[in-house]
Amino acid sequence: MNKKNTKYIVIILFLISTFLVSGPSLISNGKSNEEEKKENNKVKIAIVIDDFGNGGEGTEEMLNLDIPITAAVMPFAPYSEEESKKAIEKGKEVIIHMPMEPEHGKPHWLGKKPIISSLSNEEVEERVREAVGEISGAKGMNNHMGSKITKDERILREVFKVLKEKNMFFLDSKTTGKSKASELCREMSIPYYERDVFLDHVHSQENVEKELENAYKIAKEKGYAIVIGHVGAQGGKITVNGIRNKMGKFQKQGVEFVFLSQIK
Ligand SMILES: [Zn+2]
Repeated sequence: MNKKNTKYIVIILFLISTFLVSGPSLISNGKSNEEEKKENNKVKIAIVIDDFGNGGEGTEEMLNLDIPITAAVMPFAPYSEEESKKAIEKGKEVIIHMPMEPEHGKPHWLGKKPIISSLSNEEVEERVREAVGEISGAKGMNNHMGSKITKDERILREVFKVLKEKNMFFLDSKTTGKSKASELCREMSIPYYERDVFLDHVHSQENVEKELENAYKIAKEKGYAIVIGHVGAQGGKITVNGIRNKMGKFQKQGVEFVFLSQIK
């Protein structure tokens, strides 16, 4: 073998060994196709579950789900304290599900001590403070019903004054398109979130799963989605089962389930 040939062989061997060592990682960054796909599709979904505090259908099952859930607990209900404590013990996030007067609806849907438009400023403040005292460990608040109250600037200011003092956020359940919550939160520098999707407005597991797919589409567009479901008559087991059926598949697709406070 002459000198020239030896030189070529050495160069070729060098190129082959370089490719073997770093080639695969140059091509795929050391990650499998599946991992890469997951990374590219990474989105966040926060699942908020309303109407805890009433011993409603699906309460236990919902708290036992193996993903982050934000439990919205109604104050002044039979099991408010018990269920908020249990949710925290199970590693879930808790917020206050404050009953607020709707435009239409029956008074008994609101339970005890709701925020209604006939209250004075002092009475609103007192009820909110009492609710905060009862649901200890709550990170924020959302509205139970409230299509009338979330349009009422006077009342919202009183509610938000307490949230601001306690460093709590507000999630607008968006029961009306005319809510003033977003502009007031901006003005008062209160962290603000709003619902993207209701899971169980139609009472079937099939619909819950359809709405979750809808949330996934929204999350792929803006990076995250906030969904609201229910324990009790409005949701309960169909909601738990719908979530359970979809959560594994979603995680494989790159969905990260997070608490509401971690969404953005
Ligand atoms: Zn509710």
